[in-house]
Amino acid sequence: MEMTYKKLLLVMAHPDDAEFSAGGLMTLWHKAGHRIKILCLTNGNAGHHTLSRNELAARRLGEARQAADLVGAELEIWPVDDGRLTPSIELREKLIGAIRDFAPNVIVTHRTADYHPDHRAAAQLVKDSAYLLQVPAIAPDHVALSHMPSIVLTYDRFQDPRPFRFDWVINTGLVQDDVIELLSCHASQVFDWLPSLLPDASGPYDTAWLKRFYQRKPAKVAETYRALNPAGVSIEFAEAFEISDYGGPFDPGLYPFV
Ligand SMILES: [Zn+2]
Repeated sequence: MEMTYKKLLLVMAHPDDAEFSAGGLMTLWHKAGHRIKILCLTNGNAGHHTLSRNELAARRLGEARQAADLVGAELEIWPVDDGRLTPSIELREKLIGAIRDFAPNVIVTHRTADYHPDHRAAAQLVKDSAYLLQVPAIAPDHVALSHMPSIVLTYDRFQDPRPFRFDWVINTGLVQDDVIELLSCHASQVFDWLPSLLPDASGPYDTAWLKRFYQRKPAKVAETYRALNPAGVSIEFAEAFEISDYGGPFDPGLYPFV
């Protein structure tokens, strides 16, 4: 019998954003035997305090490959400098081609309210691409989609212009160690750059430290969700996603494995 794969495409700004915001989702998706592609719109070559842009881009490509392999994901990293992503028409049409070629069921990206200009640009590029995915005259070398993918947006804490909406919340309690393993692949970030930004942090910066640091976020997401839904099930760690109006209808029942 032929397996019907569900396809998840993560369109993120930097080579560790997918793991930080949706590492649990990717793990559960992979464990269920479905397909994943991680598309990073920049090469992440600004996130370090000592390495040059070229050195860092090369190192992060290797780190991202290692993480992608853990969840069986295809990986594509665009040669755009970190910190310089813009929602240009050229990149929009390139993105339309990339989305059409993979033909995902679900696209994950940032919200346009997120803190980093590259995150906002990535979110804007997905938003601007969405309707045009089905318009054949745009990017005509890639066959237009007959079916609009759902688009879901990763959790952030920003309030302006509107706080995050907890539309799709998944329990990541059983895969926290897998997420830490994914994040550990990004050693230049989690063990070098991140501690350098944390004046209060004290080492050693090892996996146990990373676990303490990282788990505050899924714990906070779960706590906020429990407060919003007092009658709901009690979950300790969660990832949350907002459903974008720009994508096709989203039915969580199609993805019972998460
Ligand atoms: Zn990022």
